Amino acid sequence: MSPPLSRSRAKRLRERFLAWYDEHRRDLPWRHSRDPYAIWISETMLQQTRVETVIPYYERFLTRFPDVQTLADASQDDVYAHWAGLGYYSRARNLHAAARNIVDDFDGSLPDETDALQTLPGVGRYTAGAVASIAFDRPAAIVDGNVKRVLARLLGIREDVGDKQVAARIWEEAGRLADGQRPGDLNQALMELGATVCTPRAPKCMACPFFKTCDARRAGDAEALPKKEAKTRVQAVRGVAVWLSRRGRVLAVKREAGGLLGGLWELPGGDLDPGEKPEDGAQRLLAERLSLEVSGLRRAGTVKHVFTHRELSLHVLCAEAEPGRVRRFGLAAHRWLSPAGLRALPTATVTRKALAVVPQP
Ligand code: SF4
Repeated sequence: MSPPLSRSRAKRLRERFLAWYDEHRRDLPWRHSRDPYAIWISETMLQQTRVETVIPYYERFLTRFPDVQTLADASQDDVYAHWAGLGYYSRARNLHAAARNIVDDFDGSLPDETDALQTLPGVGRYTAGAVASIAFDRPAAIVDGNVKRVLARLLGIREDVGDKQVAARIWEEAGRLADGQRPGDLNQALMELGATVCTPRAPKCMACPFFKTCDARRAGDAEALPKKEAKTRVQAVRGVAVWLSRRGRVLAVKREAGGLLGGLWELPGGDLDPGEKPEDGAQRLLAERLSLEVSGLRRAGTVKHVFTHRELSLHVLCAEAEPGRVRRFGLAAHRWLSPAGLRALPTATVTRKALAVVPQP
């Protein structure tokens, strides 16, 4: 591995990062705030999600939940309704739970140290470092995909960044850079350079403040870095979702808490067995999970949705429920709603895709 950053080189790099950031940073809504709560919300939304997508969500969320107490007092459905479409719903669930912890354990104010921040649900090393450095000027490091890429190229780290030792090295280097003046701006400069200049493909080295000294630019292998092992293969799965009517009302079910889509409302259904026909699977799943028999099954369409490691083909069917009481297994709640009421529930993107193919009267 290349040698670790010396104090003097870290200082020179920090100064150059900050000078570049002062001139080139994008004007983003959360950069107008030093409120730790607002910074925490923005950093949570920005995980796995593009800046342009986050901006309107951030503004709506902060308008509805302007502080920790308001978020802690809100219902989970209300929080989900303001998150719907942003994906990775465990983030919303954790924000809500963490707000309650902050009220109970920290007098309603976010703690300013990374260790205390990391006791909150959903707050890992990255988010703790971001809040501590940006909101509280603590010399805490952050490493995300952008930071990994910039540091691997700039410092010539050519080993697999998925390797524990290499990952630790990158955190150490980020820590050396953050250990000086304006740690919050330094961290944002690293991420900003990765997002706008040192991009995964075709990095704009000519416009980069490190054009002369960057190890990868000089060696000509910037696009090959950071080195990563092949990704986990995406698994193809098939499922069904049923628009199930009875006397003008439609059945919605709520998932149990936990998991990717835990606590969200959706159409009843589930995963198909290998080789199982959608109609057979729908009858089986509605019997197993809701003790319901159905008639008039007909296909409305098929939608695709990619989760982290799953590519789902979801067959959407319409049917009528036969008389009989619902008895739930493995579901948190159910409701018979008007079609408009069902469509207004907070749901994940995959459910909204399914609802879009159901014919409307
Ligand atoms: S010179 Fe090129 S590869 Fe090096 S940090 Fe700048 S943009 Fe990235």
